[in-house]
Amino acid sequence: MVEGYCGALLGCRSVLRIKRSAVEENVRELFRFGGKKLIAVIKSDAYGIGVKYVAPILRELPEVESFAVACVEEGVLLREMGIKREVLILGGILPEELEAVKEYGLTPVVSDIEHLKIIGNEDIKFHVKYDTGMGRLGFVDEFVDDPRVVGIMSHLSTPADEEFSRKQIERFEAIVRRYSRKIKVHLESSAGVIYRVPYTTHIRVGLAIYGEKPLKEYPLRLRPAVSIRARVLSLKTLPAGHPISYGRTFVTEREMRIGVIAFGYADGLMKSLSNRGYLLYEGNKLPIVGNITMDMTIVDVGTANVRVGDWVTVVSEERTFGELAREAGTIPYELMCNVSSRVKREVT
Ligand SMILES: *Cc1c(COP(=O)(O)O)cnc(C)c1O
Repeated sequence: MVEGYCGALLGCRSVLRIKRSAVEENVRELFRFGGKKLIAVIKSDAYGIGVKYVAPILRELPEVESFAVACVEEGVLLREMGIKREVLILGGILPEELEAVKEYGLTPVVSDIEHLKIIGNEDIKFHVKYDTGMGRLGFVDEFVDDPRVVGIMSHLSTPADEEFSRKQIERFEAIVRRYSRKIKVHLESSAGVIYRVPYTTHIRVGLAIYGEKPLKEYPLRLRPAVSIRARVLSLKTLPAGHPISYGRTFVTEREMRIGVIAFGYADGLMKSLSNRGYLLYEGNKLPIVGNITMDMTIVDVGTANVRVGDWVTVVSEERTFGELAREAGTIPYELMCNVSSRVKREVT
């Protein structure tokens, strides 16, 4: 009998599991370390993990005061889930989005004079973003004061660079001082929390909620909250000199036992991991051999006692997105966002 993961009638070839208790612990740890309530950033379908599963966990936690998403559509989705807290739209506002912003009570972040024009005289509360060195969204020289401003923010471009981050923190402080009213002030992302900026009122975090470290040296105690497993579809022994997968980028040097795993680049395993990364089976490393294909990946099973239908580990507490990302030459954020909807989601 194969261990059941999602009990789907149509079968289940891959599953992403979210461990609720780990998410809760990470939120508490962020609150403890930062000393401030969280604006939980759950843009882009909660970094690809699945906002339908992540938001119901976070909304129960008193440490999470607000949510932030990238666009109005994502904000509307949260309202439709019954979320009543402040929902920040980080990506500003476009003219045709004004009606939805009003109707759903969303809070746009104004980063451009044009955003102010779109809002016009409407009774809409908003935050203002200042560019202190990120060079993306935000005002550089302008100062926006308006009774409808309920918060201001900036964003660190290089949290690993202490000297530059301190400059940004100073520049933002000068702006903060110009507001005489009590407003929300937020700057620190998951990596930025290490600076414990004294004048901010909230931290604005995403990645660390899932237990992924944003920096090599990270003083917070986090627990990876996400795991991904996929099924073994086929096993066989190939003779020496046999090519594996498209392009024959791998040729067996000896007799080799291989496994075909139901997880390819369409599921989120980036092709750059071909002939590089490995999957895990009960503590055994199964190196990826040959090119990763759309729906399947081939591994060297070695002497592991694997059977068809077994589950192998793509990501786990021991094998984090961060580790896999390093091998793929990317960042955990990109890997997470790549996990496709074909991968079933489960909260445990
Ligand atoms: C995505 C994002 C965050 C969250 O960053 P993490 O590194 O995931 O904590 C914070 N602020 C802004 C403006 C963002 O775009």
